[in-house]
Amino acid sequence: MSFIFLGNALWLDFVNTQIIDGELVDLLAGGDAFMDWARATDLPTGESGAKAFDTALIETRSFRAQLREAANGLAAGTALNPDFIADINRRMAEHPVATILENSGSGWATRAKPVTTGPDRVLADIAHDFARFVATEGTNVRKCSNERCCVVFYDTSKNHTRRWCSMEACGNRAKAAGRRARIAQ
Ligand SMILES: [Zn+2]
Repeated sequence: MSFIFLGNALWLDFVNTQIIDGELVDLLAGGDAFMDWARATDLPTGESGAKAFDTALIETRSFRAQLREAANGLAAGTALNPDFIADINRRMAEHPVATILENSGSGWATRAKPVTTGPDRVLADIAHDFARFVATEGTNVRKCSNERCCVVFYDTSKNHTRRWCSMEACGNRAKAAGRRARIAQ
């Protein structure tokens, strides 16, 4: 099954590696899948290989569950768990980002460069993204309106009226169900 990138934020795309397709499906079924996902999102996997990613799976899933809880909290406007924030800060401190000054030909620019690689680094980059999100956006996190879908996303639509993870996956299905209901009446 292919990954879905409908979250409008890295950390939400990570939460969306667990979906409902009739039943709960984990798209990070093994170390290979976790590594593929990290590569698909351009995160620094390094040379550690699938085995390291396999070993990190239990922690990865528990971090993902905490992020889902945080997404629900942000959607509901409730306070974030202080222990979770401490965990986010620990991950960022253990895997910092260096600022690099470089001349790309068209001029000087600074670039953020991760100083570590591997599965812990990937989780730390997700933590960095979560921190950035909470500090700069923090609102308009939503869950898809389809009850049988658990995709979460950052609603960047103009009036913040996005209801579905995607029109193709859930929006049209809901419309078709509405049509069928009207016809049956
Ligand atoms: Zn959906």
